[in-house]
Amino acid sequence: MIGLIDANNFYVSCERLFRPDLQAKPVVVLSNNDGCVISRSNEIKALGIPMAAPLFQVQDLLDQHQASVFSSNFALYADLSARVMSILEALAPRVEVYSIDEAFLDFSGIQDISKTAQHIREQIAACLCIPTCIGIAPTKTLAKVANHLAKKNPRYKGVCILEKASDIEAVLETFPIEDIWGIGRRIAARLKALGITTAEELKQMDPRWMRQTFTVVGERLVYELNGISCLHLEPEIQALHSIQVSRSFSTPLTQFDAVREAVASYATRLAGKLRQHHLKTTTLVISVCTNRFQVRNRRYYNSILINLPTALNDDSRLIAASIQGLEAIFKTGFAYHKAGIVALELIPLTAIQLTLFDPKGEGSAKAQQISRALDKINQRYGRGTVHMAACGPRLSWRDKKSRKSPSYTTSWRQLPKVFAK
Ligand SMILES: [Mg+2]
Repeated sequence: MIGLIDANNFYVSCERLFRPDLQAKPVVVLSNNDGCVISRSNEIKALGIPMAAPLFQVQDLLDQHQASVFSSNFALYADLSARVMSILEALAPRVEVYSIDEAFLDFSGIQDISKTAQHIREQIAACLCIPTCIGIAPTKTLAKVANHLAKKNPRYKGVCILEKASDIEAVLETFPIEDIWGIGRRIAARLKALGITTAEELKQMDPRWMRQTFTVVGERLVYELNGISCLHLEPEIQALHSIQVSRSFSTPLTQFDAVREAVASYATRLAGKLRQHHLKTTTLVISVCTNRFQVRNRRYYNSILINLPTALNDDSRLIAASIQGLEAIFKTGFAYHKAGIVALELIPLTAIQLTLFDPKGEGSAKAQQISRALDKINQRYGRGTVHMAACGPRLSWRDKKSRKSPSYTTSWRQLPKVFAK
C-alpha cells in the first residue's frame, strides 16, 4: 500500500504556526509581487475566492471580511517543509518527497495502516501545528484519489484508505476524470469527447487502446486505476531537467535599462541555483511580456533561445548571455510586466567539456572563484549584500513583498521573541 500525505493549505498553515491568533480566521498568501492568491484558508475558500485569483479582483471582499493577507515567505515554507519531511523519514520506512507539501509513503508491511497514518498526522500536528490528510491505496494514482476524499470529507478524520475492490469502484464511479492525477485539461477534454467522464469509465478502458490513443501515459493510468502499480516510489531526488527564474516586476517597466537590470539579477539567481545543484547549462531561454490583465495597453510577448559557447554557471557570463538575448527581443513602446530566464540542458559538473579557445578552463576557473566568493559573502551577510553591477543600483523591479512575515526559523535576527511574566 502507498500513502500520499498532503498538508492542508500549507503556506497558510506555515503563517499560522507563528500567529496562533489567526486560527479559524480568514488568511491568504500571495504569489511573488503580491499578484495572485496562492494559498487560502478554509474560511477564504468558503467566501468563494478561487485559487490564483488576482489580488485586485478580490481585495474588496478580503477587506470586508478582515482577512489577513501575507506576501509569500518561501524561506519559511521551505524550512517547515524540510521539517515535515524529516518527521516522515523517522516514521515511515520509505518516503518520496513529491512537492513542497506532499510526499508518498511506503505502507507495505505495516500492520495497522489506519493507526500508523493517524500517528503520523498527530506527530506533524504536535511538532509543527500543520494539519495534513493522508490517502492510502494500492497505487499512487489511487492514493491521490484517496487523499482527495480525505480532504473533502470530514467523515474520514484525515485518513482515507481505499483497499477493497468494491470500495474503490464505488468511489471511482463518481470521481470526475479531470480530478485524476496526471490528467491535464486537454486530455480531459479529449476523454470527455469520447464519452469518458468518470474514473470508473476510464478504468474499464482497454489498456492497449489507451496506449495507441494516449501513449504509454494513458495505458499506465488504466493499470493504476485497476490497482496495478506502475509508478513506484522514487526515494532518490529526480534529476532536474530545467531551472527557471521568472518574476513579475513590482511596477511596469518601459525603459530597456530597467528591464536589463532585472534580467541581470535573474541571471544571478539562476547562476546561484545552478551552483547549488552542482550543474552548468549550455542553453538559455530569455522571455519578456506585458501584463495580461491590463487589456487596454498594447500586449507583447517574445522569447529567444541562446546557445552558450560552453557550459556555464557563473554570474558574469550568464548575465552577459542573458542581456544579449534581451537586446534581441526588447521592443520600446511597451510597459513590461515580467521577464524570465530558463536554463535548459543541465549538465553535472563532473561531465563538462572544455572549449577550443580556453583549453585549460582558465576563464572558467576565475569566474568560478568570483562566484564562490559572492556566494560566501551573501550566505553570511544575507542575500544581496554584494551583487553584480549589471543588476543596477535602482532595484526598482524588486519584489514588493510588503506583507511578508519574518523568517522566523531561518534568520537569527528574526527569531520570534517570547515574553514571560
Ligand atoms: Mg497541499
